[in-house]
Amino acid sequence: MSPGRRMETEQVFLGLGSNLGNRLDNLGQALAKIAALPDCRLLRTSGFYETRPIGGPPGQENYLNAACQIRTRLFPPELLAATQRTERELGRRREEEPERWGPRRIDIDILLWGDSTLDRPELIVPHPRLTERAFVLAPLAELAPDATHPATGLRIRELLERMAEPHEVICRLPL
Ligand code: ATP
Ligand code: CA
Ligand code: CA
Repeated sequence: MSPGRRMETEQVFLGLGSNLGNRLDNLGQALAKIAALPDCRLLRTSGFYETRPIGGPPGQENYLNAACQIRTRLFPPELLAATQRTERELGRRREEEPERWGPRRIDIDILLWGDSTLDRPELIVPHPRLTERAFVLAPLAELAPDATHPATGLRIRELLERMAEPHEVICRLPL
């Protein structure tokens, strides 16, 4: 343990997505890098989901999405910095992304942080668009169907069930 780190760990869920380059490789490498982050332990990983892009410019490739569960001693801003560093290491260049929700090699979002809520300019937890995204809820529901979404009080599987037609989720890859 690094000096100055707090002793307790928090259960955190991350969402991952890729729709540029070798998507499978990008997710695999991102998960390996997350597993190697200091003061983090990768506990479980969901299956990989082929999903249609939502929002952003037209003509994008489909995404591969996944979620993972970690335990960490990092504070939220430190984990955000670490995941953004991981995105850069995998070739994501935010300055080359002119449009919101455009194609990217890798996107790593912090979905849930225990049952805490955070509302800072650079970090909102639970992820503010979690409840409206089947492509995030489907992999997350594999790992934590009974986790309660702090803002709504609903369980993750309830949020997923409430989505009438999650048409963006094409399939779970048979891995
Ligand atoms: P979305 O947030 O709708 O999924 P995105 O992932 O494409 O869109 P990015 O360009 O990757 O958006 O990130 C924009 C900013 O979002 C980041 O610089 C970060 O400061 C902020 N942010 C706020 N809350 C979170 C969160 N829970 N996880 C990751 N980034 C967050
Ligand atoms: Ca995102
Ligand atoms: Ca992001």
